[in-house]
Amino acid sequence: MARHLITSAIPYINGIKHLGNLVGSQLPADLFARYQRARGNEVLFLCATDEHGTPAELAAAKAGKPVADYCAEMWAVQAEIADGFRLSFDHFGRSSSDQNKKLTQHFAGRLADAGLIREVEETQIYSKADGRFLPDRYIEGTCPNCGYESARGDQCDNCTKQLDPTDLINPYSTISGSTDLEERATKHLYLRQTAMRGKLQEWIDSKTDWPILTTSIANKWLNDGDGLQDRGITRDLDWGVPVKKGDEDWPGMEGKVFYVWFDAPIEYIACSQEWVDAGKGDDWQRWWRTDKGAEDVTYTQFMGKDNVPFHTLSFPATILGSGEPWKLVDYIKSFNYLNYDGGQFSTSRGRGVFMDQALEILPADYWRWWLLSHAPESSDSEFTWENFQASVNKDLADVLGNFVSRVTKFCRSKFGEVVPEGGALGETEQALIAELTTRIRAYEDHMAAMEVRKSAQELRAIWVAGNEYLQSAAPWSTFKEDPEKAAAQIRLALNLIRLYAVLSSPFIPDASDTLMAAMQTDDWGWPDDVAGALEALKPGHAFTVPDVTFRKITDDEREDWQNRFAGKRD
Ligand SMILES: [Zn+2]
Repeated sequence: MARHLITSAIPYINGIKHLGNLVGSQLPADLFARYQRARGNEVLFLCATDEHGTPAELAAAKAGKPVADYCAEMWAVQAEIADGFRLSFDHFGRSSSDQNKKLTQHFAGRLADAGLIREVEETQIYSKADGRFLPDRYIEGTCPNCGYESARGDQCDNCTKQLDPTDLINPYSTISGSTDLEERATKHLYLRQTAMRGKLQEWIDSKTDWPILTTSIANKWLNDGDGLQDRGITRDLDWGVPVKKGDEDWPGMEGKVFYVWFDAPIEYIACSQEWVDAGKGDDWQRWWRTDKGAEDVTYTQFMGKDNVPFHTLSFPATILGSGEPWKLVDYIKSFNYLNYDGGQFSTSRGRGVFMDQALEILPADYWRWWLLSHAPESSDSEFTWENFQASVNKDLADVLGNFVSRVTKFCRSKFGEVVPEGGALGETEQALIAELTTRIRAYEDHMAAMEVRKSAQELRAIWVAGNEYLQSAAPWSTFKEDPEKAAAQIRLALNLIRLYAVLSSPFIPDASDTLMAAMQTDDWGWPDDVAGALEALKPGHAFTVPDVTFRKITDDEREDWQNRFAGKRD
């Protein structure tokens, strides 16, 4: 039994994610986790919310809540939506957990001991009225470029010019409105990524099986311009992991927290500790420590392309720099972007479909199928309502749903709700078994290689093969001359429904459960031997005709949704 550690990039806490976010990490990770479990492998599948940093503080302030309360509430919202999409995390953790605090402080201590952290004196804006240093986004003022009066310290939203807080005319604190600001010296810690460059390059170069999208981004950051730079790992904020050197205080760093990019990926490990502490597992080290049983673990990470630099360079720098035997990632599956109907998803303009809205209008499987079968792998892809409607109506309703409906209803009318006995398989059936065997082996290869679109295409072809068989075998005609032969055909077709449920479960888990319940079986055995798998349901085995597996999307609905999610016009 192989062992698979699987993590999805952790979504930021402030707000509900859109379908593009979902298909860029959590959903394909879930597909892979479900597939590995279906093959009988041991899986630990982890995800969490990324909770620290300025945007969380700002979102909490906007909601009028303490940031800890805001994060707890949003975690619960995200967890419920993940559940709604049937994302089968073994644990959905939080980067603000005590486990992550301790582990982040531990890594910082190890890196400091290894000489990989340097202290840097900087000047930063301090607000006397607020009694704190202000991050760039907490300072607003008049843009020196266009005169816009609410330009932020990092950028002017009106003319898009990148700014430093000191560029602003009449700057003020967005917390208190105070203009009593001054530049003060403050100390920050930097991770000496420059010292790790050779080691990281060597590691990246050893990953010859990684997608080009992943390695090209890593190499660009390693080598373009001046190459990989040292990076600040601390901030003057209240909300975050307090800066400590392991268990010890860090002189001069009182009141500071680690920068969110440093503690967020460490949560992958901390999440497994949370999993154990929640009573769901009993040993996290055998997944993460190569000296404690993790040497045979295959670790795969899923993420959007914007997250690749952190996962190929920054987080490995932390892991390698610690000098401890932590498990490094074996394979990074990265995705391009999903666009929405001729443009981009926009949170601020309400443009596009967000995860909660999607579940309000259709069950999870409809979305899972479309998103995965159109995953933005080799290039960006685009969601259109026309394509969504066509894909659902054709693949799910006409091909899979219709097959199930015809087979079960015909059997009920001629043989009753049991698998009929009699007859034998002929040449047509043997040809079908041969085709299915070839296709299922190809499906396994694509799934193992995380070729998401190719897997969906192969699965669809497997459904189509059953439909074509039914069309050519035509048991409704056979029945008139040779009821025994029709019985054998229908017996095979009923077994195909179980086979489809097993194979389709990583993509459309709810429909698979429904089909298995209708077939009154709990035999989820993978079809290593296809001919054998098509005899799993024996003559006399009872079943029920399921309700409509997938309904069609009407033109009216499509138009309605198109308008509803088009976004407010500016
Ligand atoms: Zn401006």
